Amino acid sequence: MTKILSPTPDNVELVAQVLGQGGIAAIPTETVYGLAGLALHPEALAHIFDSKERPHFDPLIVHIPTLWKSLAALDEANLVDSKMLGPLAKKRADLLIHELWPGPLTLVLPKNALVPDICTSGLPTVALRMPRHPLTQRLLELLGQPLAAPSANRFGRISPTSAKDVLSELDGRIQYILDGGKCEIGVESTVIAIAPDGTVTLLRPGGTPIEAIEALLEIPLVRQERVSTHAPEAPGMIESHYAPRKPLILLSAPVLELSDLPETLQPGTLQSRFASGKIGLLVASGNKSQSALKLQELCGSPVIARSLCAADWNAAEASRNLFSQMRFLDEFDIDLIVAEPCPGPSAKDGLGFAIMDRLTRAAAPRNAPMEDLPEAPIEKKAEKKTGLKKKAK
Ligand code: AMP
Ligand code: MG
Repeated sequence: MTKILSPTPDNVELVAQVLGQGGIAAIPTETVYGLAGLALHPEALAHIFDSKERPHFDPLIVHIPTLWKSLAALDEANLVDSKMLGPLAKKRADLLIHELWPGPLTLVLPKNALVPDICTSGLPTVALRMPRHPLTQRLLELLGQPLAAPSANRFGRISPTSAKDVLSELDGRIQYILDGGKCEIGVESTVIAIAPDGTVTLLRPGGTPIEAIEALLEIPLVRQERVSTHAPEAPGMIESHYAPRKPLILLSAPVLELSDLPETLQPGTLQSRFASGKIGLLVASGNKSQSALKLQELCGSPVIARSLCAADWNAAEASRNLFSQMRFLDEFDIDLIVAEPCPGPSAKDGLGFAIMDRLTRAAAPRNAPMEDLPEAPIEKKAEKKTGLKKKAK
């Protein structure tokens, strides 16, 4: 029932038509594939939440056409209410928009009253991004309207970076996936919030290096702590996310530098916990066979390895491959995934920092099953507005 469409002009128009009529479709962006719908259309948004099984407390990012490249244009498009911002905040927002859009940077700004509550989870702010992928931009241009497009996966799972990945997440739940090949960046956008007084807070590291933002604004970003429970006031800061189905253990150093194994991987413990004790190793860089062999010797279990980089460490290559390699191991016949950290100082800056964020969250203790989540008040409003009910689970 779900069809992958090659990106011919006719197919791009077909997808634009589906979206323009309030439908939803998976589309490529430079970060990851998104599940798109009109951002100002509550019914389309309710359909996105349902198809992804996304809880209503997690707000969506609104994707905008390149024409709207200023704070004034965002005001005019009825997305932002920049009256709420002081002069410093306005100056900083405009500088970021001017220098770093289009690209993998999301700005959280005070919202215009016309942005539906279901889009922002009832928050007074809206998250905006101007994607640079030519197909995403072509769709936005054809529509002349903004698109909400969270990653096209079921909530909490690994984000898709190819049309085939989307199919394995949402087959039968949506009609079309527009195939734009493999995503160039491979991790989601960097999300920052600009407060009325001009304070800029990092909400999620991602495709735009934090150093680039700090250098431009000439200030350090305020960092926000992650939370281990679901907390509507801290969207996107939930600790367990981007997670494979299999348990994932994040090592403190590359295998070839390890002398000790974490408790779970000690010979005996591993085999008593898992039937076969087979391990999938996510190697950061270097010779993956050598790393696999050493881990096999240390823990006494068979190891199959996949690598983020074909040879030496390259952060852009690693981020492009991160989710697809994690997904490969998740679907392979193994019991658990063991991941190496980014090597040395690369774990702390640029894309390395975003990769470490995703690995740490994939390794975090998993949250309560969806049935146990508190209901966001917004869900009731959305049901009323759209007449749609959340699927019974
Ligand atoms: P994604 O799941 O990749 O579409 O990213 C959506 C994320 O954007 C959320 O999980 C939040 O981290 C962030 N976000 C969106 N809207 C807001 C908002 N109004 N305030 C704070 N963060 C937001
Ligand atoms: Mg996501």
